Amino acid sequence: MRLNLREIINIPGGKVSFDYEPDISDMSFDSVLSFRTPLRAKGHIENEAGVLLLKAELSADLVCQCARCLKEFEKHIGFHTEAVIAEEVQDEDNPDIYLLEGDYVDVDEVIVTAFVLNIDQRFLCKEDCKGLCPKCGKNLNDGPCDCKGETDPRLAVLSQLLEKE
Ligand SMILES: [Zn+2]
Ligand SMILES: [Zn+2]
Repeated sequence: MRLNLREIINIPGGKVSFDYEPDISDMSFDSVLSFRTPLRAKGHIENEAGVLLLKAELSADLVCQCARCLKEFEKHIGFHTEAVIAEEVQDEDNPDIYLLEGDYVDVDEVIVTAFVLNIDQRFLCKEDCKGLCPKCGKNLNDGPCDCKGETDPRLAVLSQLLEKE
């Protein structure tokens, strides 16, 4: 979405609001299976003492796959992002500066970049997810599997000793 900032570019205190759903349908993320509710960006661009500052809240409900046990689960994400909109790059080392194209700014570019940088590469269904048994593939969150004897800690120590010899 391109926003026309003509009304606020030279007006300190001026403000343009937005509330929309950026189209990210052509993007895919390893950790996200699908979107239960689309990504939504709500915020504004304000001329603060001559500096155009974009502030937005991003939110979405995701369907994720646990990186350990592969279970599907829903997760709500929400975060805040800010960026400076400028007519020219003053500081090449600051990635949070986006350029005006005439009177317009490409809000999508800001929002999608923020989303990509903030989305986790991997999600866990819970912090202490036990994952799958590497032998039989059973989801260990549902209880121990029958391979338990083979991973008996005493046997594990013994096999380590045998390997060393
Ligand atoms: Zn899990
Ligand atoms: Zn097992």
